[in-house]
Amino acid sequence: MRTIGVFGGTFDPIHYGHLALARCLRTSLALDEVRLIPTGLPPHRPAPPVSPQQRLAWVQAAIAGESGLLVDDREVNREGYCYTIDTLLELQQDTPDALLVWLIGADSWRQLTRWHRWRDLLEVGHLVIAARPEYAFNDLSPDLAAEFAARHVNATPAQLSRGKISQLASPLLPVSSTLIRDKLSRGEDVSALTPVSALLVASGLYCFKE
Ligand code: ATP
Repeated sequence: MRTIGVFGGTFDPIHYGHLALARCLRTSLALDEVRLIPTGLPPHRPAPPVSPQQRLAWVQAAIAGESGLLVDDREVNREGYCYTIDTLLELQQDTPDALLVWLIGADSWRQLTRWHRWRDLLEVGHLVIAARPEYAFNDLSPDLAAEFAARHVNATPAQLSRGKISQLASPLLPVSSTLIRDKLSRGEDVSALTPVSALLVASGLYCFKE
């Protein structure tokens, strides 16, 4: 069966943590492809001041020429709020023969019960959770802990299955978009944190202005 990795995010901006996770998802689970899907208008957080088209362009630049990683612009072009359930159902309709393997970090996982139709989300594909520094994996709400206990399988290609949940064996990556925005606002170098540092600086969008 064809396997499609789905990695949504604000990517405000994209960083090496995102890229490392996308690559790790693809290689460790032998997926056919991983699609990075920048969100348009996120329902869970204030809309970023940087436009969806600009965030999309940086994601495109970051993965240019990298085989197996693709950018999917469906959320950027959607009108209104972007709910992950709509995106996954749409992808499933477009690729009925494929298994969707969608990735979130531990911070997003802990908040999952706040997401629109979160129980339905768990049914659409195989959920993979990446560890993240400072976000404990345990200490979940009882509802989420129960879902994890019922659905958990090891993260191997053979165990990929709709409705199941795995933890990605990825390194802990101490990088965030917030850190990059903060550093740029102080005029600091971010080239160790993101492959698009030159584009970010040239845009002037996060930079400190007097
Ligand atoms: P911000 O600092 O603005 O909140 P972010 O770095 O968390 O941004 P997002 O685009 O919001 O980046 O993240 C997209 C997805 O990637 C989320 O599921 C998030 O949990 C995950 N993610 C981002 N960075 C990491 C990281 N360093 N380790 C693990 N997961 C991460």
